[in-house]
Amino acid sequence: MSNNNKIEYVKIHNIMVQRLIKSALQFVSVTLEFVKSHQENVKLKKEDAQLYIKEMLHSVLFLLYINKPSIEPQEFMSQRMLESFRRNYSDVLEKYKTHLPLRPPYSILLDLVVKIMEHDQEDEMILDCLWDLNEKMLISGMGNEEQMSANDFAFSSRVVSCCYFSEKSTDFKTRKYFGASVACKGKIQREVFIDVACVKTWHPKVAIGVVNASTGNETLQLPEYVYSTAYRMKSSNTTSCICYKAMPPCPRCLDIFPNIIFSPEALEVYNAKWEHGNCAECESVSNLLKAERDLEEAVAMPLSNNRINRRQQRLIENLRNTRFLLRSNLIYYDSA
Ligand SMILES: [Zn+2]
Repeated sequence: MSNNNKIEYVKIHNIMVQRLIKSALQFVSVTLEFVKSHQENVKLKKEDAQLYIKEMLHSVLFLLYINKPSIEPQEFMSQRMLESFRRNYSDVLEKYKTHLPLRPPYSILLDLVVKIMEHDQEDEMILDCLWDLNEKMLISGMGNEEQMSANDFAFSSRVVSCCYFSEKSTDFKTRKYFGASVACKGKIQREVFIDVACVKTWHPKVAIGVVNASTGNETLQLPEYVYSTAYRMKSSNTTSCICYKAMPPCPRCLDIFPNIIFSPEALEVYNAKWEHGNCAECESVSNLLKAERDLEEAVAMPLSNNRINRRQQRLIENLRNTRFLLRSNLIYYDSA
């Protein structure tokens, strides 16, 4: 690498770290503010709010810690913020190096939004609320690097999806269940979250369905009449305007969930560069099966043939390449 290239590399590297830190701080403060503004909300008990905050903080600190270069809380938080977290959520500051988060920060935020709006089950209400939060998370440009300044949504999911079951003949309809696509920067980080979801977080039938689809094996057969719509966040670099737009399913989702009724319908030509499990549909269908027992029982457990263990292996390999402190067993963070 020539000297000029080296300087350029260090500079860009530095900008990316700064943007990651800025995005993290913005995400944390917007989420804290959101919780505070709903403290009087009957649907969000104080104890539950604390659990969400702890889980979100832990997930953010973990992501920054496994980043290259690794970023520690004292390197980006003000002394005051750090002291306050130490007083209120001391276990989070002890466990981000040793315990794995169950889900990315944005999935936690989405869950919180859905909980608060539990009775406003229209997609639009939930999307409006997310839209509002996303807008507050926009980060401004860095000095002269305007071309680098378009917000990269390091902690926000670009896609949110919603699914439900509805059978007209029996008049049985479930509520809607939501999920977010994996939101983080970096290949290792993304794989870590998909593998944690497969090994631990998602409903086992969905997890095996995802892994099987990625290896061309037996896919998941859901009951008939599961409906799903995904919404993609569109942002404009020039006007910093964001909106959600319903989008057709990607080929990965068609592999994993061959009999879901998608709306809008699948397009014939659609190129997907991401891996199976990255999509929001996995989380929303997992939430559906976790909550709806009758539906869950109607889904046969796909044959796994140790494929989940291989995911765990990849998870461990990836974590070995970070500063995460691996113990003999993988330990997961429990905010309760
Ligand atoms: Zn998809």
